Formats: sequence, structure tokens, C-alpha cells
Amino acid sequence: MNDITIVGAGHAGLAASVCLQKYNIEHCVLERGQVGESWRSQRWNNFYMNTPNWTLNLPGKPYGGNDPDGFMAKSDFVKYLSNYAHDQDIPIKENIEVTHAKFLDKHWHLRTNDGPSRTRALLVATSTYQHPHIPACSNLASTAILSLNAANYRTPDALPPGKILVVGSAQSGMQIVDDLLYAGRDVILSTGKTGRVPRRYRDRDLNYWYDKIGLMDRRAGDLQDPRQRWSGQPQISGWNGGHTVSLQKFHRNGVRLLGRYAGFDEGIMHFRQDLRENMDAADRHSKKFCRTIDNYIKAENLEFPPDTGDDPIHDPIKDLNVIPEPNQISPTDEGISTIIWATGFRFDYSWIEANAFDKYGYPNTIRGEASIPGLYFLGMNYLHTRKSGIVYGITDDAKHVAARIRDYLKTD
Ligand SMILES: Cc1cc2nc3c(=O)[nH]c(=O)nc-3n(C[C@H](O)[C@H](O)[C@H](O)COP(=O)(O)OP(=O)(O)OC[C@H]3O[C@@H](n4cnc5c(N)ncnc54)[C@H](O)[C@@H]3O)c2cc1C
Repeated sequence: MNDITIVGAGHAGLAASVCLQKYNIEHCVLERGQVGESWRSQRWNNFYMNTPNWTLNLPGKPYGGNDPDGFMAKSDFVKYLSNYAHDQDIPIKENIEVTHAKFLDKHWHLRTNDGPSRTRALLVATSTYQHPHIPACSNLASTAILSLNAANYRTPDALPPGKILVVGSAQSGMQIVDDLLYAGRDVILSTGKTGRVPRRYRDRDLNYWYDKIGLMDRRAGDLQDPRQRWSGQPQISGWNGGHTVSLQKFHRNGVRLLGRYAGFDEGIMHFRQDLRENMDAADRHSKKFCRTIDNYIKAENLEFPPDTGDDPIHDPIKDLNVIPEPNQISPTDEGISTIIWATGFRFDYSWIEANAFDKYGYPNTIRGEASIPGLYFLGMNYLHTRKSGIVYGITDDAKHVAARIRDYLKTD
């Protein structure tokens, strides 16, 4: 029996293990696939990290390469995690899925595909983004259209000839459109209301500014709606050295833009006529972000180069009315062969039998510590702050949770 079992060998589970080792706490990490499984099996081939290399600062291993401002390809990030697990001697058991967990008689009882086990404490590091979410009104089973999502789309070459409809214009949708365009594919994009941000502003990456202006440290209580904890991330890309992406750029590069997808019915796809609103919302977000930085620089009396403007390809489209905006199309008549749903990811903790979740099913914790004895979470969005859900924020949270686990195991 272990003192503590960690479920999940993504960066959060690995960071937790390293922090527990510091206290000599006996533990193991159970992983249903391999180390970094989400990056291996839920990202497309050409995926690049959106966050620059300098944000990769796992406990005991800050980024030490010679390209701190670059962006890692997913294969390099998987290597980075695997090397970390190896170098730090992390006790991982791969290909073991935990299917049920319940606290009984001072222990957590786990069911796994390798049989039952017991542990004094349980740390869940299975991410906010677990399963691709497809809108309920999207059953295309009656058509010959290939239906993929942001987690199982791999490469443009694997798609049949014909047009590709991407549904969703948050981070993944925009990056997938970029990938398809680069391969010369004919793309239609159904847009939603997502912000965009410039990749660089006043000589710094946006993540530098997120940190400086306090966005990385935002708490869940600062959000207007608790569901914003897992809402779509602003449009940006780390591919090809990192660059700004925008609906304007896609329009100018030949992508046909539509409003928000509203459903499929008797061979017809329906869309809202809100493209202009969606473009405006993205631009407003970008402008607000830049003004906040300007104000910060001014208030702090800092020296940064002036704004030189982004590539004019992102400039507003003067006469938006030139873009026809149908409220329905027939995918067959349009020659659409493939639909890629980039409509977000969802979490599912239903395998944990405990009264430890809010009305959305999200863990109720104080910085990762649930009110149920011996139950901890790590790596989820806004567990403590906004950066809790990305690599950049994991070290502080992992240290905190490991210290709480040490105290629990001492007193239990
Ligand atoms: C498309 C996308 C792009 C992103 N880009 C970035 C980025 O550029 N930079 C950044 O910092 N963050 C990024 N993130 C956010 C964040 O880093 C990831 O969600 C990250 O994977 C969270 O780390 P984690 O270790 O908590 O979870 P994961 O890396 O998802 O690891 C969880 C692990 O748990 C395993 N697991 C799940 N359930 C079980 C079970 N029941 N039993 C056993 N094992 C289980 C999974 O196989 C997986 O390996 C991105 C997220 C997404 C979805």
C-alpha cells in the first residue's frame, strides 16, 4: 500500500511526484497510457505549444535550452516530459487506468484495470481538458461526411479530398485552420465569440505581459461566471516560431467565414448570423489587452519600445458586408468532405465517489485540497489561479499540495 497514489502522468502528476520525493513520501503515479499521454494522443501532428519555452519550469528543472522565446513542437514536449520522468526517478506505472475511487475506513480504495489497490491519500492530476466536447446537435451519422474533433484530427494529408469545415474559432480551431491552410486545403470556419491577442506586443510575448499585468494570478472569484474557468482560450499560435492569428487573416487567405454553428437537421447545417459580432469581439479583446499593457507601462514608468502595430493582414475588414453570411448550408452541395469539431474539451471526475465537486462537477478545493480526507487535485484551471492549469503555474501549486499531503499523512 502506498502513502499516496497520483493519478495521471502529465506535467502536473510528474511535478507532484518530484515535490513528494523531497519529503520522502512513498508514492506511485498511475497512468492509463504513457507519460504525457494527452500530448501524444490528443494533439495533431503539427501542434506546437502556445506558451514560450521560458514558461517551462517544472520543479527542479527550469528550461535550460538555448531558445527561451521559442515554442516546442509537441514531440519535443513529450520528450521533455519523458526525460524529466526518467531523470527525476519518478515511480510511474503505465497503462493502468483508475476506474473508481472511494474513501472508506481511512483509506482510498481504487479499482484499476490491474486490480484493486489501497492508498492513504489520492492526488488526481487528470487535467481540466480530458474529452473533446461535441455539440449535442451534431449527429452526422446519416451523411458520408468524416467527423473528427480537435483531439483525433492528425494531419491534412489524412483527410479525404473536398472542403473541410472547422467548427469553433478558439485556440485549437484557429490553429487547425492554419494547419489546413498551409497544406493548401479549402477551409470553411464556423466562428464563435472568442478573444484574440497579439503574439507579441511592445517587444514581449503576450505571456510576459499576462504575468506582469496580473492575468496569470487571477483567481476563480475574479471571474464573472464560474464556467469561464474552462472556457475557450484566446486565438494565438506557437507554430512556425509563434504568430498572431485572426479571422481577418483567414478571410484574406481565402477561408470562408460563417457565424456560430447552430445545429444539423435533415441534411442542412444551421448557423447564426453573428460573424460580424464574433470578429468585433475578437478585435475588442485584442485592443483591450494592448491598452492594459500601455497603461501598465505608463503607470510603472517603464521603458519599452512603442507599439509598431501588427501585420496589416490582421487589420479590420473595412466593409464587412462583403462577406456573405448564410444561416444554413447543405454540406453535400458545398462539397464538404470533413468536419472538425474544435468545440472545446470537458472534464469528468465521476469515477471518484465523493462529495467533493461543485454543481458543474468541478473539484471543490482550497488550492487543490478537497474537504474529503486525503483527496487532492493538481493541474486544473483556476485550482488556485489562472496559471494553475498550464505548465508555468505548476511548481508553486505542486509544492503547496505536497506540503499539505505531508501534514495530512503525519496527522492521519
Ligand atoms: C489543445 C490544448 C493546448 C494546450 N496548450 C498549452 C500550452 O501551450 N502551454 C501550456 O502550458 N498548457 C497548455 N494547455 C493546457 C494544459 O497544459 C494541459 O491541459 C495539460 O495537459 C494539463 O496537465 P495535466 O498534467 O494536469 O494533465 P494531462 O497532461 O492531460 O495529464 C493527465 C494524464 O492523466 C491520465 N489519466 C486521465 N485519467 C486517468 C485515469 N482515470 N487513470 C489513469 N490515468 C489517467 C491521462 O492519460 C494523462 O496522461 C493546453 C491544453 C489543450 C487542451
